[in-house]
Amino acid sequence: MAAKPFASSADLGVKEQTLEVLADGVYALTAEGDPNLGAIEGEDFLVCFEALATPVAARRWLAKLREHTDKPVRYLVLSHYHAVRVLGASAFDAEIIVSSEQTKGLIAERGQQDWESEFGRMPRLFEEPESIPGLTWPTMTFRDKLTIELGGDRGELVLEFLGRGHTEGDIVAWIPKHEILFAGDLVESQAALYTGDAFHFDWASDTLDRVKALGAQQLIGGRGAIARGRDEVDAAIEQTRDFLLTMQRTVGDVHRAGGTLKQAFEATHTALAPKYGKWPIFEHCLPFDVQRIWDEMDGIERPVIWTAERDRQVWDELQG
Ligand SMILES: [Zn+2]
Repeated sequence: MAAKPFASSADLGVKEQTLEVLADGVYALTAEGDPNLGAIEGEDFLVCFEALATPVAARRWLAKLREHTDKPVRYLVLSHYHAVRVLGASAFDAEIIVSSEQTKGLIAERGQQDWESEFGRMPRLFEEPESIPGLTWPTMTFRDKLTIELGGDRGELVLEFLGRGHTEGDIVAWIPKHEILFAGDLVESQAALYTGDAFHFDWASDTLDRVKALGAQQLIGGRGAIARGRDEVDAAIEQTRDFLLTMQRTVGDVHRAGGTLKQAFEATHTALAPKYGKWPIFEHCLPFDVQRIWDEMDGIERPVIWTAERDRQVWDELQG
């Protein structure tokens, strides 16, 4: 059997981008499994959620958004530090770039390595990579919760850290008035999970419980379709949890029995593929996912930093 191409390096098909209006002044962009984006109108300003991998990629989203509103971007909110979500930030001309304190720390600690790693894994998302001016630095941070008053009768936008999950510092954006939740990569709806920087045990328990307790009627995950209505929202949350719990079980069995990482990978692949194998980035993510949960089971508290070299090593060992 031929070796699988590294990560998403052979995925070159352009995805269709769709802007949807979820409520008055609330917008989402989905892209057939590529990273999703959002925007929320205040009375005289905009809040944008996520920034894509390069300014050139972000400008295509902004052009679509500008068909609906010409308000200036006051806040650009970063749900977490991953390069394909933050390096397009300069295109927004935002007054303020917001993240959790934890995310800012992660950018300082590992933002450069993450940039190089993600560029190698998903080159298609890095449209005109030379347009990236450098790492993106948040200018306003918070630990647990930050509320933005939208003005007029628009209510508020609540940014909240709900516990460790997809990374150490993910935040969600919640609009109580419309019961709309931008969940970032904490929830994927019909897309595979990337858990290479995750805290699997926190995420599958308290963090997802807190996401669910918000009671969203519409949920925009990190990738995949928008979930509409409580049934679809809960299905997306429980799909995310099922993926994590399946990994805990399959990797845990092999780890406890003194098996190898490769055996854990194969058992997990077998368990997940029937349900998730056809979803975007499944084959790409799984080696990195299994390596990270294996590390957690070895007692490694914080994710080991991914570098272009470590990516290749793990890939060759598990998918090669
Ligand atoms: Zn991510």
